[in-house]
Amino acid sequence: MTVPNSISIEEVISELKLVLDKKNILTEYEERFCYAYDATAIGDELYLPDVVVLPENTEQVAQIMKIANKYKVPVITRGAGTNLCGGCITLKNGIVIHTSKLNKILSIDKENLTCVVEAGAVVEKLQQEVEELGLFYPPDPSNLKVSTIGGSVALSSSGPRCFKYGGTKDYVLGLEVVTAKGEIINVGGNTVKNVTGYNLSQLFVGSEGTLGIVTKVTLKLVPLPESKQVMLVFFDSIDDAAMAVTDIISHKITPSTLDLMDQKTMDTVEQFHPTGLPTHYDAALVIEVDGIADTISVQAKQIEEICYKNNSKDVRIAKDKKEADEIWFARRSAFGAVARMKPNVITEDAVVPRDKIPQMVKAIRKIAEKYNLTVCTMGHAGDGNLHPNFSLDLRDHDEHERLEKAVEELFDAAIELGGTLSGEHGIGMSKARFMNKVASEEVLEYMRLIKNSFDPNNILNPGKILIK
Ligand SMILES: Cc1cc2nc3c(=O)[nH]c(=O)nc-3n(C[C@H](O)[C@H](O)[C@H](O)COP(=O)(O)OP(=O)(O)OC[C@H]3O[C@@H](n4cnc5c(N)ncnc54)[C@H](O)[C@@H]3O)c2cc1C
Repeated sequence: MTVPNSISIEEVISELKLVLDKKNILTEYEERFCYAYDATAIGDELYLPDVVVLPENTEQVAQIMKIANKYKVPVITRGAGTNLCGGCITLKNGIVIHTSKLNKILSIDKENLTCVVEAGAVVEKLQQEVEELGLFYPPDPSNLKVSTIGGSVALSSSGPRCFKYGGTKDYVLGLEVVTAKGEIINVGGNTVKNVTGYNLSQLFVGSEGTLGIVTKVTLKLVPLPESKQVMLVFFDSIDDAAMAVTDIISHKITPSTLDLMDQKTMDTVEQFHPTGLPTHYDAALVIEVDGIADTISVQAKQIEEICYKNNSKDVRIAKDKKEADEIWFARRSAFGAVARMKPNVITEDAVVPRDKIPQMVKAIRKIAEKYNLTVCTMGHAGDGNLHPNFSLDLRDHDEHERLEKAVEELFDAAIELGGTLSGEHGIGMSKARFMNKVASEEVLEYMRLIKNSFDPNNILNPGKILIK
């Protein structure tokens, strides 16, 4: 606990009680225990917060920050807690701010194609509401049923549709943020164009709760595509799948999704939920095109031809919604299927230039073999973003040690191929130790200066992104 010696957490809690309703302050061990984890597999360590608070408005968040800053208590903001980088883990105890009661969709502007939402609003709920009005919010992290807009902004989440539409960062126009000192500031705005001074809204995007607490977000929307068509394409070799991806793009087709699953992933998904998915192919692509109905059927046909030209053995175009849902089920259930194999699954998030995907997949396989680990690789082939999922038992210390070595080698391989540490899952605590592999000491020092100017007492999510 990092509260200065002369002060006890009881003093902090008694001040919090002046700001928040009793029901919104959780202090019991069992309650705090639920917040000692996020979706990151962390072994048997227990990172228990001192207190969890559930503010109901921005003013309360500001008051909480004033108290935290006065006592120099760490504050960790938590949306749905589904991140995979230890972003919500309380390395130094402290206060967890859970945004679940800041969950309103405040306005949807049909004329200007924008909306304003509170940080705890769930991504899928926003998508459903805007789609009812014929509008579209494309960023689609696979767990959008639960993940929050605030968490998505803090990680700049994206998903299968990123290839065509971009990720969360491309939709953030403005933010309301509570600073470490407890000020409420507004950065960016509500216009699509805005080059007024430093781009502070984009500085908060991807900052993982280390620079400020996002309380409201103004997002850009786009018109809902009229129609879509999904297809599943199988290849005997990952190189052919990668060549097909390049060929599709060079034909000036921009699918909304160009995702990849390797053989082990398909095998695991089929064992989890049999749907007749062939398990002997080396790789499969999930490809979706969207837009005007006539255009997409032409594009689907073109893609089919391109895939066969690149040695595909089987191209399946979904004939109806049931078949489309089955294809998406196979893709979306991959993580859950892998998670069933052993007690833990570590999902990594390497990104490489698109044309280096085959080399990266091969490197992942080689590393897993070297360290005798089970790995299923999937990812967004169009973006060069791969998710190797290691399935293991972290209680087995030998296996855990082998994993640590494998992960480091995996990132070394990605960096050597011109890639980097994260495409969409962030750095958090898991990858902070690798930051010096991709950023020079000068760059790290500028990052520290930015952190220090927003958070001089280092109370906002300390120990994440930058180790010191
Ligand atoms: C099964 C599964 C599938 C996933 N698929 C994808 C995917 O396809 N694409 C992808 O990008 N990610 C994916 N993720 C990772 C992650 O779940 C998403 O990025 C998600 O958007 C995070 O939202 P959250 O509400 O759970 O954030 P949390 O996990 O609660 O928080 C994430 C980070 O943001 C900070 N934070 C949260 N809210 C705020 C706020 N209001 N202000 C400031 N900081 C804040 C936290 O401190 C933490 O550092 C997946 C995770 C799982 C478990």
